[in-house]
Amino acid sequence: MPPIKKNKKFTTKGEINSELRFNARSVSRGVAIGNVICLHGTKRQFYRISITNEEVESELMRLRSAVQLARKQLKKIILTKTDKAKETKTGIFEAHQFILEDKSLITKIENSIINNKFNAEWAVKSVIDNYVAQYKTIEDEYLRERYIDLEDVAERILAALGGGRFSKVSLEKDAIIVAKEIRPSTLIELGETSPRAIVAENGGWTSHTFILAREMNLPAVAGIKGILRRVHNGEMLIVDGYNGQVILNPNNETLSKYQLAAAQFQQISYEGIDEKVRQFKTLDGKEIIIRANLDLPHIYKQAKKFGAQGIGLYRSEFLFNQYKGFPSEQEQIKAYQQIARMVGQDGVRIRTFDLSVEQLADEAEEKEKNPALGLRAIRLGIIHRKELRAQFRAILQASYQQNIDIVLPMISDVSEILLAKQLLQKEKDYLKRKKINFGNPKLGAMIEVPSAVLVIDKIVEEVDFLCLGTNDLVQYLLAVDRDNESVADWFRTLHPAVITAVKRVLQAAENKGIPAVICGEMAGSPFYAPILIGLGAKELSMNMHSILRVRKIVTGVAFEEAYNLVKKIENCRTSDEVEEKVIEHTQQNWAHLFQNEIFPSLKSYAKK
Ligand code: PEP
Ligand code: MG
Repeated sequence: MPPIKKNKKFTTKGEINSELRFNARSVSRGVAIGNVICLHGTKRQFYRISITNEEVESELMRLRSAVQLARKQLKKIILTKTDKAKETKTGIFEAHQFILEDKSLITKIENSIINNKFNAEWAVKSVIDNYVAQYKTIEDEYLRERYIDLEDVAERILAALGGGRFSKVSLEKDAIIVAKEIRPSTLIELGETSPRAIVAENGGWTSHTFILAREMNLPAVAGIKGILRRVHNGEMLIVDGYNGQVILNPNNETLSKYQLAAAQFQQISYEGIDEKVRQFKTLDGKEIIIRANLDLPHIYKQAKKFGAQGIGLYRSEFLFNQYKGFPSEQEQIKAYQQIARMVGQDGVRIRTFDLSVEQLADEAEEKEKNPALGLRAIRLGIIHRKELRAQFRAILQASYQQNIDIVLPMISDVSEILLAKQLLQKEKDYLKRKKINFGNPKLGAMIEVPSAVLVIDKIVEEVDFLCLGTNDLVQYLLAVDRDNESVADWFRTLHPAVITAVKRVLQAAENKGIPAVICGEMAGSPFYAPILIGLGAKELSMNMHSILRVRKIVTGVAFEEAYNLVKKIENCRTSDEVEEKVIEHTQQNWAHLFQNEIFPSLKSYAKK
């Protein structure tokens, strides 16, 4: 590990600042030491970069094209919104247009690029922040509230900046990203320059950003209120993703303790791992298939070494980040063929785009109050049918002589499956007419909405397999936003309702004789895996970095013991009771399997 410069911070009295500790929620394991980079923005996330004299001109060009694009977008929105009901909305967008036409505002931003050598994003933020601060002091309430329009305009310019060439994103090697919230697309972009860790105010274990962080083996913690106000760019930070701790400006003693832990974390131990083994059995001979959930397909090779037998869940919406919008049919064919070739006979299950309306191009136009309950996943596919059909066509063609299956996200009703089957048939007919080769992918449904659990006996009649998405299932069963830090304590994976739902779905698949794969984060937890096995799970699909730990558990427990555990928890009334029983049973029977885990206690597993 390269040496890290310790940043001394002096108080006004000349004393060195002592270390500060923050308690956080661990959302990705590992330890890292580095220097803070504060990340700002929501849709378009960015941080301060100092540009050189030579880069000023191109940065000005980026800004001007972004402003141009933003103006065009607003014009289009205003022109298309003609009906009476939308008059108020149009008024808002006209106000935005007015702000964007203000030459003095744009000149100020340009001057900030020229004089301060700020990247365009930072110049937009700092100038508009200044305006916003002034507006907030205005006494007149109506005028004061106009700061919201300014923020919206800033957001629109920043989003437009994202469409153009990116101003160089090269984080320093030891960067620790600190943000209120980090979008998965931002993490993918920043991931290319290998940050050390992430610290966020919002998000939970099952947030996509942190699922991705774990896939990237990037330590992460969340849940520190106001963290952006408490740290500054360049300050030294330790992130302890095992114990949920963040230490700002550590003293020498703390630093040397953590340097050792950080170095250990960098070296994954492959000891005792047989790379050829991909079939796992419990001690009493029940076979459990382990698959990988992959959002970054290039890492399948590594997942396979760990023991993955194919990809149980490929979240195709990650292509959306890469192409900054719906990828074309040809782009999709190429991407899917690439994954299918990598995976070979073990196969890949491609989930159709699980997007929310917010992630589509013009977000300012279509904000939803409850995106998780809104036009999302299969519902969005039904509305944006052209895109869903293009995706079906792409998957059909890519599956020619390849092992690819299709999964439909967020199914809440059998009719959605029937419609998807009709559309799929239409695309098959079309390809046949055009004499284009295509395969015959199996069709599965994600079970993650309570209504799907309640009609599961009807669903199994219409699909070839089930994928149990426990992340959303917990969210929707318990009405707890999986991304909202303030309700994280209500996100109880071991709630009796969750156990009952999982059991019911596995039973329905068993009765019908079709496979059911558990692909939520629950499957990747060594603590939960025995419960799933006891409930009848035969396929677990998980984050690549969970495979070694889960495989050790799968092969170290007997089905009978897992079944006995399920019998003990089945009559519990509360999540607490279930957790207690699981901890007790794990300690009595499987403590040896958890011996090398760095997590402080089994209790911390129970909270995931
Ligand atoms: C789930 O909901 O459990 C799941 C696997 O899908 P995602 O995490 O992408 O919503
Ligand atoms: Mg889901």
